[in-house]
Amino acid sequence: GHADLDCDVLVLGGGPGGYSAAFRAADLGLKVVLVERYAQLGGVCLNVGCIPSKALLHVAAVMDEVAHLSAAGIDFGAPQVNVDTLRGHKEKVIAKLTGGLGQMAKMRKVTIVRGYGAFVGANHLEVEETTGTGQDKTGSKKVVAFKNAIIAAGSQAVHLPFFPDDPRIVDSTGALALQGVPKKMLIVGGGIIGLEMGTVYSTLGARLDVVEMMDGLMQGADRDLVKVWQKMNQHRFDKVMLKTKTVGAQATPEGIKVQFEGLDGTQSEGTYDLVLQAVGRTPNGKKIGADKAGVAVTERGFIDVNIQMRTNVPHIFAIGDIVGQPMLAHKAVHEAHVAAEVIAGELQGNKELAAAAFNARVIPSVAYTDPEVAWVGLTEDQAKAQGIQVKKGLFPWAASGRAIANGRDEGVTKLLFDDSPEAGSGDGHAGRGHGKILGGGMVGTHAGDMIGEIALAIEMGADAVDIGKTIHPHPTLGESIGMAAEVAHGSCTDVP
Ligand code: FAD
Repeated sequence: GHADLDCDVLVLGGGPGGYSAAFRAADLGLKVVLVERYAQLGGVCLNVGCIPSKALLHVAAVMDEVAHLSAAGIDFGAPQVNVDTLRGHKEKVIAKLTGGLGQMAKMRKVTIVRGYGAFVGANHLEVEETTGTGQDKTGSKKVVAFKNAIIAAGSQAVHLPFFPDDPRIVDSTGALALQGVPKKMLIVGGGIIGLEMGTVYSTLGARLDVVEMMDGLMQGADRDLVKVWQKMNQHRFDKVMLKTKTVGAQATPEGIKVQFEGLDGTQSEGTYDLVLQAVGRTPNGKKIGADKAGVAVTERGFIDVNIQMRTNVPHIFAIGDIVGQPMLAHKAVHEAHVAAEVIAGELQGNKELAAAAFNARVIPSVAYTDPEVAWVGLTEDQAKAQGIQVKKGLFPWAASGRAIANGRDEGVTKLLFDDSPEAGSGDGHAGRGHGKILGGGMVGTHAGDMIGEIALAIEMGADAVDIGKTIHPHPTLGESIGMAAEVAHGSCTDVP
């Protein structure tokens, strides 16, 4: 049919998945059109996710660190917070990164079409132009014809149906907009996003309550690590409500009144100046006309793909948050490269590229709280649930020279090695093997910057001796990884 533009690869969505796919495809010589409804590239991650949250968390961590220095004889006095300047600082960080992306797209000759995209056929996407900084539609439409498509339309925050429409009730995007610092804040959902935003607001002066349906905060992380984080963060919270549901809310002049119900039936209530909904994210699969292209979308709005990121329609791929958990930027980027390479390989008859596949064994997670909590691979509970016997190496940072010098020795590094008798020797990559590392995590300052080493150890099929005999620089927090491995091995001082 009629088309205003045509291309080898149409990428729908300009987040970390979409721009990474577009750039890799362009670098491989393909003609690429990238469709994004907002004025700036970067998606959730750069505009209202990873980056702005870290800009604010950095400020909060420095404020908290400075407060600790009193014990070392250095006093700065009470902080003077200018929320408008802080918001401006965060905006500048975003602008620097998104501007850089625009330049990179131009250098690679990726055509960016601004507007809301929806499939109108298996090889056509209609884009309704949008203007301003948001997604106001102008009514003007364009059709893009494509040989292949990569869907990277991402996800958005889940909103609880019983919350009234009120500016004092926000999702993570509203919290990052930083309209002011409330006296009393409720965080609904004790996961990474809620706890990161809670850290920022609490350091700026808010008192926190948190409500969580499960029996612990930061689900997914090893309980030994979360325990340390929780002890260090108790001072931020008036109430930590676990195994509790939020069941109702009303906007009143005094604040947002919220009702809670414990799984045991206990009723309670609280009044808040700000309520953050952080109960998860839902994929945008049902909003892109996927059916018109024949692409199957699940009940919840996810798009199923194989390890080449291919949907049920062979020339259409999907990546990032829209294909499922974990909804993390680094996962989206790696999936993006796979999809772009497979397409380029097929269009150009390059068998090696066409065989690209997403086969990461593990994907690390990080809560950029203070202290940070980072983990990768199996946790002790998961290993137990799978009937895998493990050998643990736990290294408390109270024995780390650097952590003590930093005045932050509350951390712990924990590694888990396969100790099942039936584990066999393994091949170091594809499967388990006796003695090989299965997972690990750290709680402590800079844990997120160090977790990559444990991910690499798992990908390489390292055992405790490999890690323990790897020389880490002294004095660093990273030494704790080598030390934890030595603890698990008993000792590495014996000559092999
Ligand atoms: P998105 O980033 O959601 O991008 C999708 C893009 O598609 C958007 O720009 C959207 O406007 C566009 N789009 C959607 N539909 C259409 C359409 N029909 N037409 C045109 N354009 C469309 N992850 C981490 O790894 N580390 C972190 O520290 C981290 N922190 C986070 C903090 C917060 C507060 C939040 C909310 C998320 C955080 N995440 C973090 C998650 C991370 O942001 C996502 O995993 C990541 O952005 C997913 O990338 P994506 O490309 O799949 O989708």
